[in-house]
Amino acid sequence: MKVKQISEHIWSLQTWVLIPITVWVVVDQKGVTLVDAGIPGMAKGILTFIDKLDCGPLQHIVLTHGHSDHVGAIKRILEHDPVPVYANAKEMPYMEGDLPYPRRKKAQASVAKGLANPLSEDEQGRFEKISGLTPYFAPGHSPGHVVYYHEEDKVLLSGDLFTSKNGKLRRPMAMFTGDMAEAVRSAAIVDRLKPARLEVCHGQSVFHPTDQLSDYLKTNQSET
Ligand SMILES: [Zn+2]
Repeated sequence: MKVKQISEHIWSLQTWVLIPITVWVVVDQKGVTLVDAGIPGMAKGILTFIDKLDCGPLQHIVLTHGHSDHVGAIKRILEHDPVPVYANAKEMPYMEGDLPYPRRKKAQASVAKGLANPLSEDEQGRFEKISGLTPYFAPGHSPGHVVYYHEEDKVLLSGDLFTSKNGKLRRPMAMFTGDMAEAVRSAAIVDRLKPARLEVCHGQSVFHPTDQLSDYLKTNQSET
């Protein structure tokens, strides 16, 4: 597993199984937040890294969405550190197997029922900040997909909202994307937040993604 510090508070931990699979470790005064949980084989490496980092205990796991390559290590991590797991309430019925993800035939649970808690929202329905990260709803790849913005570091952890190639924004993987047109529309979050750096789960970092946004939309909107 390749570990890289990407900003003052954030590290990326990446493994390869045909494609890169990335999770992020974010630190604040209280300890460590894990963003996404990769595949089962990453559990040991994640726990060892958090231990070695020595920035406090794991506080919670937050998920961009519930696909199996984003939740795989949760079970083993919780056996070691029983911490809360959070995801968007809209993603719950799909990840818990009550509904099939769009364009999939069968409902299939990727996590046990009741394992994840809904991210907290204020009275206007905006997500509340969690350990320096603000969640934003960015659906399309999955119905309850969220991205996490670290405002202080100006880093957007975008999960599967995009992939990337040679530093360029690319569409999420079509095969696993429920509604591509909606995913492309959700890219507008980049213009709203103007991150200095954008991270994707299945690819490498994208710097100054706002500069690429109009090209991204131009190339992709017509094809969806
Ligand atoms: Zn996915």
